[in-house]
Amino acid sequence: MPNIAILWFRRDLRLTDNPALLQAMADNDQVLPLYIHAPADEIPWAPGAASRWWLHWSLQDLDRSLRERGSRLVIDAGEALAVIQRRVAQTGATRVYWNRLYDPATRARDTRIKLALRAQGLVAESHNALLLREPWTILNATGDPYKVYSAFWRKSSPGLAGCTPVPTPPGFRPAPAADSLRSENLGLLPRIAWDQGLRKRWQPGADAAMNRAIRFLDSALDAYAQGRDLPGTTGTSSLSPYLHFGEIGPRQVLALIAARYGTVEAPAAEAYVRELGWREFAHHLLYHFPHTATDPLDPRFARYPWRTEGTAELLAAWQQGRTGIPLVDAGMRELWHTGWMHNRVRMVVASFLTKNLRLPWQAGAAWFWDTLVDADLAANTLGWQWTAGCGADAAPYFRVFNPVRQGERFDPQGTYVRRWCPELAGLPDKFIHQPWAAPAATLRAAGLTLGADYPPPSVDLARSRLEALAGFETIKGSTDGGQDAARS
Ligand SMILES: Cc1cc2nc3c(=O)[nH]c(=O)nc-3n(C[C@H](O)[C@H](O)[C@H](O)COP(=O)(O)OP(=O)(O)OC[C@H]3O[C@@H](n4cnc5c(N)ncnc54)[C@H](O)[C@@H]3O)c2cc1C
Repeated sequence: MPNIAILWFRRDLRLTDNPALLQAMADNDQVLPLYIHAPADEIPWAPGAASRWWLHWSLQDLDRSLRERGSRLVIDAGEALAVIQRRVAQTGATRVYWNRLYDPATRARDTRIKLALRAQGLVAESHNALLLREPWTILNATGDPYKVYSAFWRKSSPGLAGCTPVPTPPGFRPAPAADSLRSENLGLLPRIAWDQGLRKRWQPGADAAMNRAIRFLDSALDAYAQGRDLPGTTGTSSLSPYLHFGEIGPRQVLALIAARYGTVEAPAAEAYVRELGWREFAHHLLYHFPHTATDPLDPRFARYPWRTEGTAELLAAWQQGRTGIPLVDAGMRELWHTGWMHNRVRMVVASFLTKNLRLPWQAGAAWFWDTLVDADLAANTLGWQWTAGCGADAAPYFRVFNPVRQGERFDPQGTYVRRWCPELAGLPDKFIHQPWAAPAATLRAAGLTLGADYPPPSVDLARSRLEALAGFETIKGSTDGGQDAARS
């Protein structure tokens, strides 16, 4: 009797540096590569529309790569445990392998599955493909998780040279006969074709991920420390959706850096590796504080006086990129058209939503969840709570990003704003980030009528900042359960 195994692909859609795949291929005569579409298992964080678009093409790419090696991807849909049990019965598999995920719903589900399979006498084995360090391996002197990034990274970063990728399995075991759905059957693509911008911008898949990483190292890594803050340039790697879906892993990125500079600790790469550290920190936090996907880490913020009137209109204007604040609108339009937004601009639009509009961060996080191709529960939660001031190592509550100053500093020629808000393109640099301040003659010369071609600001920036600060004053004195920097 041949040994038969199931390799359950999840957010590790690659063949290299995939320890579960390597182990399954090493231990067994036949391996069934299985992807299970199980959105009900992931509620309330089933993938949003942009993520589903990405997934559709990624599954096709993974299937192609497997076929090139004489195997293929078997796709199924339904509750994951039931699907695995059906496939076990169908193929006679006795072992099931996967790589771990760390969000609360998936962890609970996976634990249930592991116990159920083992109770059936099967081998159920999980590995780490997603992170450099798993969340439970990094704890402070008192055995507690970290809440401050610098302390977390001081503990995590030594020895990164040892985080090396595992190889692609040398020989691919044939898959046992099994029926399969096609990715088209999963209904991942939008019914109304709003995805042209996504198709233009992205090519999902592991080969595309590796090409993008190499291109970034060749063209932008040396200047990353400065370039990463300029949304009008290509100063960052755009690897986030690939890292989210596991089409490239952080160990592979480190290996590329080591190959280029001789060491992962090269000063030229330090700023970039530190950002990979924020990704690790995000997973650390979500693992240890799973409630933060919906609730603030700093419990005082549960009492924050969010705006109560006119909220639907303000939220819609923010979502649609018509707040009248150019940098915010440019960011929201970039998001809508490409499924991605530059990090600097993510901070600005998030600060504007939570502080100037005083709308709850959860509303912004939900919109990002649906529209980002890199929507990631850990990174999104950290990003929103950090900006709102209620998360780990958060921006101090009194730091309200001024979108005009941010624009003048990081998009001084208005390259980014002109790209996404073409109706403002004729304005001189001086007014590109605040058209309302331009004299009438300048507006006329730019062919711009405020209120007709472009909206006036939806809130007064100075006054709304003061209102936000007044809101913080009301919760400042209440019991503090978060922000416990001393423990970290
Ligand atoms: C409000 C808000 C929401 C965010 N939501 C997400 C999200 O859903 N998914 C997501 O991947 N990132 C999120 N981020 C973090 C960051 O904006 C993106 O990771 C980054 O813009 C992706 O572009 P890049 O790949 O070019 O990044 P690079 O600058 O090239 O960085 C390399 C990699 O490091 C990781 N990284 C960089 N910055 C961060 C960070 N601050 N937190 C966590 N990981 C980071 C990403 O995996 C990224 O691909 C959010 C940030 C904010 C402020």
